[in-house]
Amino acid sequence: MTHPGNPLRNQYGFGDFLFYTTLFAVPLVTAVLAVARDGLGPVIAYLVVFLAMVGLILKFFCTRCPHYTRGGKTLRCVFFWGLPKFFPPRPGALDRGDKAVAFAAPTVVALFPVYWLMEQPGLLVIYVLSAAVAATALRRMECDRCIYFECPSNKVPDDRRSAS
Ligand code: SF4
Repeated sequence: MTHPGNPLRNQYGFGDFLFYTTLFAVPLVTAVLAVARDGLGPVIAYLVVFLAMVGLILKFFCTRCPHYTRGGKTLRCVFFWGLPKFFPPRPGALDRGDKAVAFAAPTVVALFPVYWLMEQPGLLVIYVLSAAVAATALRRMECDRCIYFECPSNKVPDDRRSAS
């Protein structure tokens, strides 16, 4: 989806944060329900892995994002609202390590619950469909007007980047 004439999104609102976090909460909660079949231990392990991967994404990917590098002590974007900026901003292009973490961390989060989901087909279907909807919504509604030009998924045309 393109948004002709739409300005780049220099700021997000609290409604954007609520929309995307509730959207991505569906596959996350589905995964937790699947993993919980074997008790609290795997749930805690999954949540620890999830938080660790979020921390890695924040440190290696978000610290280069304009929503992070601009002034202010807290982050306000589609996935974080009021979160203190724990890591120093690093404006500039993503290096290989940043890209590797940006790919590997979500992959680890997505694959961790697959063992449990394979044994619960109903939850597996909800997990796959809800993750697909969430990722597609983000891609279709944000990537062509996102100000994080260094992101490999960014779809803003060059003429709109130079005009920003
Ligand atoms: S908009 Fe995306 S890349 Fe930028 S700080 Fe928020 S989560 Fe990170």
